[in-house]
Amino acid sequence: MRAVIKSKPAPGVEFAEVPKPKIKPDEVLIEVKTAAICGSDLGIYDYTPAYSKMRLPVVMGHEFSGRVAKVGKEVKGYKVGDRILAESVKACGVCAYCRTGHENLCDASTLFGIHVDGGMAEHIAVPYKLLHRLPEELGYDAGALIEPLSNALHFVKDCTPIQLGDFVVVQGCGPIGLFSAQLFRLAGAEVIVTGVNVDTERFKIAGGLGLETVNVETEDLSAIVMERTGGRGADTAFVATGAPPAVAQAAGIVKKRGRITVIGIFGRPVEVPMTQVVRREITLAGAYDAKPENFDQSIKLAKSGAIKVGELITHRLSLEKAGEAFEAAKSRVGCKVVFVP
Ligand SMILES: [Zn+2]
Ligand SMILES: [Zn+2]
Repeated sequence: MRAVIKSKPAPGVEFAEVPKPKIKPDEVLIEVKTAAICGSDLGIYDYTPAYSKMRLPVVMGHEFSGRVAKVGKEVKGYKVGDRILAESVKACGVCAYCRTGHENLCDASTLFGIHVDGGMAEHIAVPYKLLHRLPEELGYDAGALIEPLSNALHFVKDCTPIQLGDFVVVQGCGPIGLFSAQLFRLAGAEVIVTGVNVDTERFKIAGGLGLETVNVETEDLSAIVMERTGGRGADTAFVATGAPPAVAQAAGIVKKRGRITVIGIFGRPVEVPMTQVVRREITLAGAYDAKPENFDQSIKLAKSGAIKVGELITHRLSLEKAGEAFEAAKSRVGCKVVFVP
C-alpha cells in the first residue's frame, strides 16, 4: 500500500510502498480517509532529540479518520463500514498514572507514527478500544482533527482553570492555538490570539472564526493587554508555540497571581524570568497530550458546531505529495495540512 514513512535517523520523510498491515484479534483494519500533519510530526521530520528513540522505519501519522475495512475475532461493537477516528496513544493501563486517571502521562505508552505504524497510509491496524465513532454530522476531515482538538480540550478544560469574563492571551495561532482560543471563548473568557508576520494565513482563519488577533512583531502586545485589563494584566497566558521567547513574554503580560499554561514543545532549554514568577505569585504549569474522555467531549463539541474544526484545513494532498505537504506545514503558509490517501 501507499504510505508516508520515516526510514532514516536523519531529517526528512518519504513516500513509499509498504506491506498492508495485518490485524491482531483485538484490532480493526481502517481504510484511512484523512490523515493530518501535527506539529510533533515536524519534530519527527527534523529528527530532533525528542524522537531519537522512535522505531525506524515507521509509517507516520497519529491524527486520522476512516472506515472500518476488517475486524479481528475479539473486536466488539464495530463492523465493516463504520466511520471512525482513533485515539493516538495506547496507554499501558497498569502503571501508576494509568490507574489514577492520567493515561496521558503513562510510563509505557505506544504512539502511532512513532512506536507503531501510523495513519499516513491507505490502511492502518488499530486496537478497537482506541476507536470512537464519527457522527454523521462530521466529515472525515473533521474526524482527523478530533485528536488535536482533544489535546486542546485537555490543556484548556483539565489544566487551565478559568472564570467567566477572564482575559486570556493565547500565544500562537497554529491548530492547537486556534482550537484552544475557541474553547476559552466558549468557557466565557475574553480571548486574544497572537502570531507573527509569517502567520498571515492563520490570522485570516482566526478572523474567520471571530477571534481577535495580535501580531507581536508589529504590535505591542503588552500595551494592548494592559489597556484592555485596566493595567492589571491577563488572567491567563496560554503558550501554544514552541518559540522560546513566548514564556518570558507570558510572564510579562499576566497579572499578579495569574497563570501561564505552557503546551509548546521547545527544542531546547527556555529562559523563564523566575523572579517575576515568584514575586508576582504566578502559577506556571505544563499540559500534555489528552485523556480518553477528551475524545468523546471533543466529538460532541465539533458535532454541535460549538467548536469549528474543518475550517483549519488549508491543504489537502495525496500521500505521493509527502514532500510538498511537509514543506507547507513547516513553512506555515497554511494552518492544518492533511493527506487524503
Ligand atoms: Zn498531534
Ligand atoms: Zn500506563
